[in-house]
Amino acid sequence: MSTESNFNPDKMKNLVTLCKRRGILFQSSEIYGGLNGFWDYGPLGVEIKRNVKEAWWHDMVQSHNEMVLMPGAPSKFEMVGLDCSIIMHPQVWKCSGHYDLFHDEMVDCTETKGRYRYDQMLGRWAECKGQKAFITADPKAEDAEQEIHRRAMKFFNLRAKDEGELKFTSDLTSLTTLDDFSQVLAPEAKHVGTLTEPREFNLMFKTIVGALGTEENAAFLRPETAQGIFVNFRNVVDSTRVRVPFGVGQIGKSFRNEITPRNFTFRSREFEQMEIEFFCPPEESRQWYEFWRNRRYEWYLKMGLSGDRLRLRDHEQAELAHYSTGTADIEYSYPFLQPGEFGELEGIAHRGDFDLRSHMEGKLVAKDGQLTLELDENGKPKHRGSGKDMSYFDDLTKKRFIPHVIEPSAGADRATLAFLCEAFQEDQAPDENGNMTSRTVLRLHPRLAPYKAAVLPLVRKDGMPELGAELYGELKEHFPCFYDEKAAIGRRYRRQDEIGTPFCVTIDSQTLVDGTVTVRDRDTLEQSRVKKDEVAAFIEEKIKK
Ligand code: ATP
Repeated sequence: MSTESNFNPDKMKNLVTLCKRRGILFQSSEIYGGLNGFWDYGPLGVEIKRNVKEAWWHDMVQSHNEMVLMPGAPSKFEMVGLDCSIIMHPQVWKCSGHYDLFHDEMVDCTETKGRYRYDQMLGRWAECKGQKAFITADPKAEDAEQEIHRRAMKFFNLRAKDEGELKFTSDLTSLTTLDDFSQVLAPEAKHVGTLTEPREFNLMFKTIVGALGTEENAAFLRPETAQGIFVNFRNVVDSTRVRVPFGVGQIGKSFRNEITPRNFTFRSREFEQMEIEFFCPPEESRQWYEFWRNRRYEWYLKMGLSGDRLRLRDHEQAELAHYSTGTADIEYSYPFLQPGEFGELEGIAHRGDFDLRSHMEGKLVAKDGQLTLELDENGKPKHRGSGKDMSYFDDLTKKRFIPHVIEPSAGADRATLAFLCEAFQEDQAPDENGNMTSRTVLRLHPRLAPYKAAVLPLVRKDGMPELGAELYGELKEHFPCFYDEKAAIGRRYRRQDEIGTPFCVTIDSQTLVDGTVTVRDRDTLEQSRVKKDEVAAFIEEKIKK
């Protein structure tokens, strides 16, 4: 674990270009100019993201062995899955707290009509010729410091040779530290003092269910997948043989009307989550929290993120939600983040019995360190719960209790983006003439690579394409595979390197003689001679690791 910086706007630019050029990610509705905060995964991107989700589902849910005690776990446990609807009963969001509390504060600029998240606006105090202003950076700017410098020069009407007259009197600081905005120069604005006071903005997308179209039929697109699991707690217990402790995994779309979507897919308005709600006896919950916190961190390392760029950050007491006794974020230093900044990949929260109780009793609030029902001005419950019993009876200990919940909540898009950023490298490799030249390579973990192998006949004659086509068909039965017979072999290798194909299988003249092919390793560039019939097993063995 370290706090090393990975800030590299050029790398990010090159990765974004590669994603577009090779069909990994496209802007949504691009032909109409795009829609901010929405993205489409292209033919290769869909495979990469699906591999991320499948690796998560496989490792957390499908392959989980409830007969074995896992290292660090207080006991054996079970795992099952769910796939819940995106639109749920509106009462779900009232009891969960999202209806009243799920908002960000935003500020508007009266000059440019721009809208910004209050807590994300950064700036620096600058002085020149006796005038003072707080110069902000557009939250979308790649390099905030550079942008502020450029804007300050322009605002004070300075030419390059007069730069000495400009003085910055503060470091980069948040707008939230300011008491009034009269000297703030908003992003892209020409005048100071154009920002409004911060206002609350609910992040849930609203829609209407049914043909009547009245406010009474208003519903919301889920802002997290978790609630579907909580409201199905009884259904899962009653319909399966699971016993507490057990976990429920779910992968699905979530929607948040983010004020400033930015940084490629990092902050989108439509995204996918991979969430686990883990139900356990209250007295074991601390140990389970530690277990999941460590297990999830290890998972990202196993899938290829470097420990130098990944950190596990425990929340300070003040950051914790009122019901949480512990929360940790797994964070990655994405190349678009300033030195020292990390972006959240996943949050692991100890949620106590807040969720199950809320859906049973109604919306809860913390009072004197205890959760109690929130009342309206007439002393009635502000939001009524379902009234359904969400407790669990343990027939071994003969105890009835409301399970506590540990929630590892990850983003599939943020994870995909982190794996892409980590994998994207430029190094040297021999070209078709044997000279070392630079190449772009996506060193994706083989489990995440869109194709596991490419079949490349050396030349388009002597029966090589026919042999290649046959082998291609055979390998496709085992794993996703690509066939390419166009262009020089060196160029074809490069094309596979930049989309992360771990192995290139070449049919050459020796294949015609002894039935062997070469298998080239993307990372080591080593070439092994393997019997044609054994290629599938050879590659399968390697990608398992
Ligand atoms: P942030 O502070 O970055 O807005 P959050 O703390 O609100 O994130 P959670 O509510 O904990 O996020 O959501 C769990 C996970 O869902 C996050 O760790 C992240 O991976 C993913 N996620 C949340 N919001 C977005 C978004 N707007 N775009 C993409 N992924 C998201």
